[in-house]
Amino acid sequence: MLAYEYRHPSATTAEPVLALVERPDPVADEGELLIDVAASGICGTDLKIARGQHRLYPPGTVRVPGHEAVGIVAQNRSGDARFDPGTRVAVAPNIACGQCRPCRRGLGNLCENYASVGLTFDGGFAEKVRIPAAGVAAGNVQVVPEHLDLRTAALAEPIAAVVRGLRPLQVTRDDSLLICGAGPIGLIALLVAKHRGVGRVLVSQTSAHRRRIAGQLGADVTLDPRDGDLADQVRAHTDGAGADAVVVATPIGEVFADALRCAAKGARINFFAGLPSGAGVVGLDANLVHYGELVVTGSTANTNADFAEALDLLAGAPELFAPLVTGAFPLARADEAFAAARAGEQLKVLLEP
Ligand SMILES: [Zn+2]
Ligand SMILES: [Zn+2]
Repeated sequence: MLAYEYRHPSATTAEPVLALVERPDPVADEGELLIDVAASGICGTDLKIARGQHRLYPPGTVRVPGHEAVGIVAQNRSGDARFDPGTRVAVAPNIACGQCRPCRRGLGNLCENYASVGLTFDGGFAEKVRIPAAGVAAGNVQVVPEHLDLRTAALAEPIAAVVRGLRPLQVTRDDSLLICGAGPIGLIALLVAKHRGVGRVLVSQTSAHRRRIAGQLGADVTLDPRDGDLADQVRAHTDGAGADAVVVATPIGEVFADALRCAAKGARINFFAGLPSGAGVVGLDANLVHYGELVVTGSTANTNADFAEALDLLAGAPELFAPLVTGAFPLARADEAFAAARAGEQLKVLLEP
């Protein structure tokens, strides 16, 4: 089969590369599934892998990335008839052990012994992907609802992450929501919030192109953080109150501090984005949290339950989310697809083996 493989030869000798290679077809073992990949989204994590900067891809790694895969079951050795060959499925990438402390508390996304499709073993940038028995048993393979096309279903993974990030914010129709950053994650948060009827969604973003897209996708207000103090701008659009909920979806330290200043009394804030390692110490005004009774939350990755919720959400409104897929390339043109994803004009780029 054709695969877009990552090779990191050694710490000193050669640059890491992603290249198309011929590999033997994988075969499903007892308990496993083999899936013919229909589409795999390229995400920021993959760009990080391609740069040789991902901690799960150290020197010496040879592996196929791709953790946003959907496809059709080719081989079912799970004994579960729901996955008979021909079934359309989406793969939730994070396989939790079910035994460790976070797992026992329902935090499978924080599993201490996790395995992850496309991160710790071969993923979806290939014609076929093999799902280990532990993943099949844990519910990582989920049937795609009938009227949801596979291309749109490929958005389930980032949507699952957003569903998780928004949950503790409990945004209602009466709330205003500020989203900092209009990358794919910020735009998904915008779509989910508008879909849930949130009255006023403000999006802050430096790129005019992305602000335009946010406007097209339903943002009530778009702001350029360079047009003056962001907190002043947010208050001007929220009757002086500030935002009832804030999502930080951009990896820039000062935005985390700004988020607190933009928040209304009693607001909820989600630190969705991660900062590069070593850059996580940022100056926050603790008094804003104290005197404003702010609730600051974080979220990372997603669980299989989040993923199922994302598939439901997609099935209920595929036309809402479909415009996020702005590029689809056959696997043979993977280099081009990565270049497009890197250029930043695209929203979600898919590889379609
Ligand atoms: Zn992703
Ligand atoms: Zn665990």
